[in-house]
Amino acid sequence: MGLVVQKYGGSSVADAEGIKRVAKRIVEAKKNGHQVVVVVSAMGDTTDELIDLAEQVSPMPPGREMDMLLTAGERISMALLAMAIKNLGHEAQSFTGSQAGVITDSSHGKARIIDVTPGRIRTAVDEGNIAIVAGFQGVSQEKKDITTLGRGGSDTTAVALAAALDAEVCEIYTDVDGVFTADPRVVKKARKIDHIGYEDMLELASSGSKVLLHRCVEYARRYDIPIHVRSSFSGLQGTWVGRTQGNEAMEQALISGVAHDTSEAKITVVGVPDKPGEAAAIFRAIAGAEVNIDMVVQNVSAASTGLTDISFTLPKSEGRKAVDALEKLKATVAFESLRYDDQIAKISLVGAGMKTNPGVTATFFEALSRANVNIELISTSEIRISVVTRADDVNEAVRAVHTAFGLDSDSDEAVVYGGTGR
Ligand code: ADP
Ligand code: ASP
Ligand code: MG
Repeated sequence: MGLVVQKYGGSSVADAEGIKRVAKRIVEAKKNGHQVVVVVSAMGDTTDELIDLAEQVSPMPPGREMDMLLTAGERISMALLAMAIKNLGHEAQSFTGSQAGVITDSSHGKARIIDVTPGRIRTAVDEGNIAIVAGFQGVSQEKKDITTLGRGGSDTTAVALAAALDAEVCEIYTDVDGVFTADPRVVKKARKIDHIGYEDMLELASSGSKVLLHRCVEYARRYDIPIHVRSSFSGLQGTWVGRTQGNEAMEQALISGVAHDTSEAKITVVGVPDKPGEAAAIFRAIAGAEVNIDMVVQNVSAASTGLTDISFTLPKSEGRKAVDALEKLKATVAFESLRYDDQIAKISLVGAGMKTNPGVTATFFEALSRANVNIELISTSEIRISVVTRADDVNEAVRAVHTAFGLDSDSDEAVVYGGTGR
């Protein structure tokens, strides 16, 4: 039997009991004859608590120190997990991201993995140990500083290690039974998806389904690593994420699911002169501040004024940086004002089947209209439609769309075993 990588999220190791429960599960895999490499997240909401703490001592903490702070969360859980496994009579060793050979660029808070050299992990498992690796962290190639991969980054650590170690499978253990047709915290009648292709999973992830991180799915697709998303609290089969081509089990669904995201804000640049170069200057300034944007909307100007409004969405966490960058631009681009709105939500419908199916957009908008939800922005890709609405409307909108596309299950309610949803 080959090597498996198992990743346990924060909700699975929220307290001492959780750590002991997970330790038993890991030992089971080892007893079944696998070589086992475990990636672990910080306990419960530790990362959020550390961020709150940092903000209390500094409004804009330096990225390098922030990464030093946050990586401590995963060091706590990895050591405790190794102790719990040893207590069950099995050999385990914990490793930081740096010790595990996770090499990244120098972009603190959102570092990209550029190489994985897991020599120490390979040696540890070859000697019969269970290797426990701290998720979400690495070391920068250039400066040798400790970096983090961005929120939820342990998923990426797990897939990257699975690829580098040529693992049979990467198992992502979490607090729900797999990937559902909508967030089970919002839609009780959400259905578990047995198989989903990388493409649909990528769209769901980038649209806010945080059960898997976008970058981790991208990585898995590139190296063709099958991912099994499942609960650490139940013994049920979860969701298999993999290739659709040549996979009989994976018939392309018309609609895979509904995702929502409340982590974004909207900036509107009001009264931009409608002439070539203005949008370019605005987005160059945003790029210069290293802010990633999502949706962009601009209308043709009212002929009488020659002015237009440009709106775009971005992570709330980058709002201040973006507004500062635009304020500085005011001298060169003569726009009238800036509006910042963080009370928005994005709702997305995802499905490879929608490419060839007319009427999906109409059904989507009709469902929102029946739920009395106003649409502020719209964007589409081949296999996704997204809208921006008021944040207060998000739950109702997701449920309405889920029902309208016949996704509601008529059997068991989706179970959420743990976590605070934070
Ligand atoms: P972990 O701590 O294990 O990393 P996360 O909180 O990052 O867990 O991800 C699991 C959560 O993702 C679930 O508790 C659920 O609320 C949320 N979620 C959002 N969309 C989906 C979806 N489509 N299917 C399953 N879970 C989803
Ligand atoms: N602990 C980190 C976070 O909360 C990384 C992870 O859990 O994947 O974002
Ligand atoms: Mg996660």
